[in-house]
Amino acid sequence: MPKRASTGLVQITKSPIPPLHQSTELMTACALFYIEAVIKGRKRPGGIESARGRQVHKVGSDIASWCAHKGVSMDLEAFDRFAKGAGAMATKILVGMRESYTVDHQHLLATEIPMSLDENFQPTEVPDAVGGVVADSGLPPHFQGILDTLFLFRESLGAQSDDMKTHPRPYDPSDPDKALQGKMYSLFILQHFPWVMEVKFRLVFVRFKNLYREVIYTRADIPSLIETVKAARERQKMIHFNYDNKIEMEATPGDHCMYCPLMTDRSCPVGQMNENMQLSDEDRLRFKIWDSIFSRANTKVLTAKVQATGRNIVVRDFNGKSYTYGPVESESNVYPLFQATGESIATKCDCGERYSYVPDAGKCPKCGHRVRPIMPIADLIIEDYAFGNTGDTAWMGKMAISSTKLNSYLGAKKRAFLDQACQDAADKVTKATLKVSKPLDMIEDEEPDDDESEFGEDEF
Ligand code: SF4
Repeated sequence: MPKRASTGLVQITKSPIPPLHQSTELMTACALFYIEAVIKGRKRPGGIESARGRQVHKVGSDIASWCAHKGVSMDLEAFDRFAKGAGAMATKILVGMRESYTVDHQHLLATEIPMSLDENFQPTEVPDAVGGVVADSGLPPHFQGILDTLFLFRESLGAQSDDMKTHPRPYDPSDPDKALQGKMYSLFILQHFPWVMEVKFRLVFVRFKNLYREVIYTRADIPSLIETVKAARERQKMIHFNYDNKIEMEATPGDHCMYCPLMTDRSCPVGQMNENMQLSDEDRLRFKIWDSIFSRANTKVLTAKVQATGRNIVVRDFNGKSYTYGPVESESNVYPLFQATGESIATKCDCGERYSYVPDAGKCPKCGHRVRPIMPIADLIIEDYAFGNTGDTAWMGKMAISSTKLNSYLGAKKRAFLDQACQDAADKVTKATLKVSKPLDMIEDEEPDDDESEFGEDEF
């Protein structure tokens, strides 16, 4: 039966269009990815990460239900029981989560609640947990999701949904390019609970202690929430329309390639390009993005193989020369700024006293004068070289501490004042790099390899 899509196209849908999930957005970023994964149902790579996420979610959901049932905010014994049997990667995250995760048991309605809206954004397939509060339209679902948790606050006419995230880099649910989940879930709640005036959608980054990012939507936001999810649904429908009508669609690479079936078997059309082909500038950029993602995925598999077998992987060319992938030991020097003494740094006083710590207020306990830190390299350079070679000191003014290293320490909240002072004293260096900029929603699920930039940078 032909249907008229809101785009004005007469849509003949041969391929069944599944309800829109928040995860569908990842796949609709590239039409070919969506076709392979959803329409053709091909298995997607990234099983380990998905299993890790599922296990962490399961433990979070089990412990939340348990705490609500027992009327407690945490039960560590129960947590350990639920966490037993999780895989190594999930366990690493759960260990950190164990100490900080608490449950607002008084307001928790349920966990893992499926919610659906029909084409007119009315509740359908209403689950028992919310049954009786709202009418079920009985129409097919067009929008679906599973809320990790749902808290209701009758006294303030509010609701809250916490969604657990295992990402190593926290992000904001209100970032325009990453907002679909928060908008969709808030719309689900507002439509299922007519008395709720305000929904707080909160991301709980379980790798970190008490790290949340949240966004609030009210009943007045419903029209704009509908617009957002409707637009995502239209994109999904458009892919089905093009597919059914044999309209060619382009592959669009990005971080989503990691989870695409066409990446696994290298059949992605972008992957077939080579530098000697006549390519447009845009095609070359597409290839650069794809190549970077493929290289990362490939290295990940190789590394896992070497770690599992303990054996290097070797390839020989026709001249018998071999290329090996495996651990290579290398040694390099780092030059310490201060002399470490375990818990502190070594200091000295002009009176000749030396300490393995920084005395109170920096004053020498013996003579009361100010102590100075022992700086092994700087002391050597200044005292042994600079004073004897006064004409050769200009290069010393160019020595600096790497900002990457220093910033990693200055980032701590308690060092905010020191951070500001250092930023004020820093020399600004302007570098121009040719770089592939990323959309806001490119949130890494895994740490990139230390030795690889994300899309590569070419300095000029
Ligand atoms: S691998 Fe190719 S088909 Fe798959 S998402 Fe990337 S660009 Fe699209």
